[in-house]
Amino acid sequence: MSSPLTDLQGVGARTAQQFSRLNLHTVESLLFHLPLRYEDRSKIIPIVSLIVGENALVEGIIQSVEVRKSKRNSLICALGDETGMIALRFFHFGQAQKQQFKVGSKWRCFGEVRQGYQCLELVHPEYQPVTPDTPLPVPDKLTPVYPSTEGLYQKQLRNLVLQALHHCEIIDYLPEPILKQFKLLPLRQALWQTHYPAAGSSLEQLQAKQHPAQQRLAFEELLAHHLSLRMLRTQIQAQQAHVLSNKGQLVSSLLTALPFKLTQAQAQVYTEVARDLQLSTPMQRLIQGDVGSGKTVIAALAALQAIESGYQVAVMAPTELLAEQHMHTFDNWLQPLNIMVTWLTGSLTKKQRQQALSDIDSGQTALIIGTHALFQKEVEFAQLGLIIVDEQHRFGVHQRLALRNKGENNGSYPHQLIMTATPIPRTLAMTAYADLDVSIIDELPPGRTPVNTAIMANVRRDKIVTRIEQVCLEGRQAYWVCPLIEESETLQLEAAEDTFAYLTAHLPNLTIGLVHGRMKSKEKEAVMQAFKQGQIHLLVATTVIEVGVDVPNASLMIIENAERLGLAQLHQLRGRVGRGDVESHCVLLYQQPLSEIAKTRLTTIRSTHDGFAIAQRDLDIRGPGEVLGTKQTGLLNLRIANIERDQSLLSQVAQASKIMLENYPEQSKKLVERWIKSELTYGEV
Ligand code: ADP
Ligand code: MG
Repeated sequence: MSSPLTDLQGVGARTAQQFSRLNLHTVESLLFHLPLRYEDRSKIIPIVSLIVGENALVEGIIQSVEVRKSKRNSLICALGDETGMIALRFFHFGQAQKQQFKVGSKWRCFGEVRQGYQCLELVHPEYQPVTPDTPLPVPDKLTPVYPSTEGLYQKQLRNLVLQALHHCEIIDYLPEPILKQFKLLPLRQALWQTHYPAAGSSLEQLQAKQHPAQQRLAFEELLAHHLSLRMLRTQIQAQQAHVLSNKGQLVSSLLTALPFKLTQAQAQVYTEVARDLQLSTPMQRLIQGDVGSGKTVIAALAALQAIESGYQVAVMAPTELLAEQHMHTFDNWLQPLNIMVTWLTGSLTKKQRQQALSDIDSGQTALIIGTHALFQKEVEFAQLGLIIVDEQHRFGVHQRLALRNKGENNGSYPHQLIMTATPIPRTLAMTAYADLDVSIIDELPPGRTPVNTAIMANVRRDKIVTRIEQVCLEGRQAYWVCPLIEESETLQLEAAEDTFAYLTAHLPNLTIGLVHGRMKSKEKEAVMQAFKQGQIHLLVATTVIEVGVDVPNASLMIIENAERLGLAQLHQLRGRVGRGDVESHCVLLYQQPLSEIAKTRLTTIRSTHDGFAIAQRDLDIRGPGEVLGTKQTGLLNLRIANIERDQSLLSQVAQASKIMLENYPEQSKKLVERWIKSELTYGEV
């Protein structure tokens, strides 16, 4: 099945080298090198019916041949049929070429029809002589045009793909019943029809990759991805984990100490987590819950369950600010229970770091909170029982796996709890997170009033300044967010500093703070603490506050240049207010002119508060690639399928995957081998 390309006639070392630039190395890989587009050479078009701009096959007799001299010499042959005349124009030509176009000889040409000075032209068409002894049958199939690279010609590509189609043993790993149930073509037919669709097939459908043959192949690829994630999951479930079962005293203590009661959704999700932790196989659970739905407390409860059993817990956050935020929250909850919390980020001093590392290594500390710094070699856990990853869309699968491997201990692996506030629609989740169990918190804590959102042009800034003053003098607090400009942190900083200066000048009665990504962790923390304690009225911030920040007394948020932000980001930012019991407001300032798409985004945010609905809109507007984030899974490196275009296949793919795994384990494995090159396994990250 994986014979080298050089097995094909006409492929030597040099050509093979060129093919390798297209990432094609085996004969089989050629089968799946699918056409970029198709040309219709199945009909000879009468010259009178030619349409400018379209590719066409014409046949006619040479009427005259001349070399026209101008800046560049060109060879012009007039070709005529019963209906009219067209010029063949060549800018590069040799004597031999010129001589073969004898007046009276018959030729078949293919090319794009252009409007010339005097008549229609074909510039550098493909051409073949038509003689009585070499009749040229018209193909009854469309002609493929392949993605190519320098030095490889379409003719050559067609020829080689054809050889592959003829000689390759095409093994269909989708068993008969699957083909039948999901109405899929057998692989052989699907491949033939994708490379050579019948003449008369809709070019439009083919271009949109919606032809049944193309869809069959996309289905197979998506299925392979799904299977690979499910197999990963099975692999994990065959591993050992520490059984975290105990009396639950710590958990009860925290529940009693909390100033609130868990919502029903939280209680349900915690039950699911608690049950998983008591199993001897590693938990792999994702908690999806909208901004503010209260995921952190679930994490804390899970942590306590692990700690009571004598294990350590690592909490990983995507930014220092969020790690800090968690540090305070957890410390607040766990200190009364006499549990030591350690924090580990890149910004500790050497001494602090040494101390942290030794506390982690000795098992002195039970809970470790940090950023990517938790991955580093020097970090050694004494007994890691549970890993909690917050806001997982910022971490790649690989990072998650690496941390997990770090926690391996005598063949036992830690449990993993992943939390995300980026809800993605169900069908997409089924595929993207096929290796995880998913719990959903679909309810916000009671007493929240939806944030009142307004959209306003930048020029009305001064009006808002008055508003801020009122709000703050009433004892509430406000955020002013200056988002990313041109991906440049420096510019972003400048913008934030300018705004800070402007607001300081215009609001002399308020205490104003500034927090941005370039600040030292200590400074950031000091500002955040002051804001949290109410010593700062107004906090000017870059998007560093996007995730996690929790100051319930803040009831007003201004977002500058809101038109630059995506829906998910706006939703996250807005989620920083509306956490207390008074009505909160969010003002989206925009710079004119506002593009249509930005307008759609802003009005969507204004009218919608449900994270899932927003995610669906986001998906419609930006497509799944963006929504999932670039780091998320191999789903964005698909060869044939496109997660966006082929969304409609996903739910069937999930069904088929289940049947395949249950009934056809061998074929499932083969399918994954065919499609997933660097198979993602937990063993080799
Ligand atoms: P997120 O899911 O966005 O991470 P958090 O865990 O930060 O949300 O919770 C947001 C806020 O809601 C916090 O102040 C938290 O203490 C509070 N909270 C969480 N659960 C409840 C509840 N059941 N009732 C009231 N407040 C809650
Ligand atoms: Mg959170």
